[in-house]
Amino acid sequence: MYRTHTCGELRLKHAGQQVTLAGWVHRRRDHGGIVFLDLRDRYGVTQVVFNPDLPKEMLETLDAVRLEWVLQIHGVVQRRPSGMENPNLTTGEIEVIADQIKVLNPSKTPPLLIRRKNDESEELRLKYRYLDLRRERMTRNLILRHRVVKFMRDYLDQQGFIEIETPILFKATPEGARDYLVPSRLHPGMFYALPQSPQQLKQLLMIAGQDRYFQIARCFRDEDLRGDRQPEFTQLDLEMSFVERDDVLDLVEGLYNALIPAVSPHKKILYQPWPKLSYREAMERYGTDKPDIRFGMELIDVSDLFVQSEFRVFQTALAEGGVIKSIVVPGCADYSRKEVDGLVEMAKSLGAKGLVAVGVTAEGPKGSAAKFFRAEEWQGVQERTGAKAGDLILFAADARPVVNKALGALRLHFRDTLNLVDKDVLAFLWVVDFPMFAWNEEEQRWEAEHHPFTMPRLEDLDKFDADPGAILSDAYDMVCNGYEMASGSIRIHRRDIQFKIFQLLGLSEDEIQSKFGHMLEAFEYGAPPHGGMAPGIDRLVMLLADEPNIREVIAFPKNQNARDVMADAPSTVSEQQLKELHIRVVDED
Ligand code: ASP
Repeated sequence: MYRTHTCGELRLKHAGQQVTLAGWVHRRRDHGGIVFLDLRDRYGVTQVVFNPDLPKEMLETLDAVRLEWVLQIHGVVQRRPSGMENPNLTTGEIEVIADQIKVLNPSKTPPLLIRRKNDESEELRLKYRYLDLRRERMTRNLILRHRVVKFMRDYLDQQGFIEIETPILFKATPEGARDYLVPSRLHPGMFYALPQSPQQLKQLLMIAGQDRYFQIARCFRDEDLRGDRQPEFTQLDLEMSFVERDDVLDLVEGLYNALIPAVSPHKKILYQPWPKLSYREAMERYGTDKPDIRFGMELIDVSDLFVQSEFRVFQTALAEGGVIKSIVVPGCADYSRKEVDGLVEMAKSLGAKGLVAVGVTAEGPKGSAAKFFRAEEWQGVQERTGAKAGDLILFAADARPVVNKALGALRLHFRDTLNLVDKDVLAFLWVVDFPMFAWNEEEQRWEAEHHPFTMPRLEDLDKFDADPGAILSDAYDMVCNGYEMASGSIRIHRRDIQFKIFQLLGLSEDEIQSKFGHMLEAFEYGAPPHGGMAPGIDRLVMLLADEPNIREVIAFPKNQNARDVMADAPSTVSEQQLKELHIRVVDED
């Protein structure tokens, strides 16, 4: 037996007991002949004391021991001398007086110090991830992730869901990203695609009569890793038969409202039930379809107040069919010229032509544009926005999407710089009524806003040919604190509608048949109405763990360049392997 207890287990009640511990040397202190070793494992740290009267060979062994060596130690548990307790350690009231020491494995000097805050370069942490994961914070994240997933499994099991695995080697399932392909050895020139999600398979499981499915599913998307993305990530994938939109939303809302207090009791869910905002409303009020509603500062349309305005910036925007919208920045009327210029630059980098900043004072508007405001316009603005003396009002005048984007981003900028939110508050909401299609300007074609299996609103079906952009869908997003946490939809279960959608997305009949013939055929064998969703696990755990990015809650993530720097993947393979796969690598230059 390697150990009688873990390094996090011993308490005062164990005093007097003989114990054996095994773990890593976390810290070593030599105090005039007495040596203190902190021994660490996943469960905690225990202080072990070596007195100078131990046998000589033991003292020699001890002498050699360094950080991260793996030791087995035998000794007696003792109450720490009064005043020496460590309230920061769960084992802080006791220590183990060692009488035996065995080196299970020495360690090279680790390139990162485990007990230090992980502030080395991320590249170093990822290269030695097995050392980085020894840290308490990382262990805590892994345990939290485990608890989240376990809670989901148990909850859904109780609700009649069954977990079903679906293949990783499959056919392309479009979710808007590039596929990862796997060449087939047995079928020269042919490829499997790794699933961007189990979307098609979970729908086929509904057609298979399985009624309520879920899976902790790995998804693979080959996209540029801007921001906080990973080539492979994990979703709670679920699908239900004979449901309408709110059946799915209620189920998932119930799961989250139960999950969060159970795994992260210090987090507060701001609104229960969760608000529902239409896509349009979210864009108009917050400038984004993933609003952070922990704070106000909403975008307020003031276009109508300025129809007579002589201010060129406003005139031009309105004449060109644009809008004038504003946000009120609390207490910032005294912003310096330089601070205002910084905001203008930010707005420009977001595509806006500029930004108008006006301070509110008891005497009236303040700032370089103040002179353009007529008294009744200014009064109207104050009434509509509720701005008070001391506030700063920012106006953007441009095409509607440009204004929404710029003010939406500025709103988040002030959230952070003015500290307007509490990180322990979770403001969940549903965004619903998305448009079915988005126009891809670059490629001059319609794209599915969610994915092509989403059910369009049946009452909008007659707009198919004339005005596809006006078709709404039965899609929904779960949003929290400015992050998209999940998306889902009621699905198409009729062959004719699915076919039409594929056509509208520009697929030829041949392509439809070769890519999705199996789905269309399945729809002809009694497909039930169904819908589902796929909440992301990585981002949820990140939020609950107060981590700044999802890599902190994934055991072995890729770096920002999609590389595993620990194992050095991707890497080249042997000629023989390539040959078996019927692949020749051509140097592009
Ligand atoms: N398959 C979708 C996704 O991965 C989610 C869903 O519609 O259920 O985003």
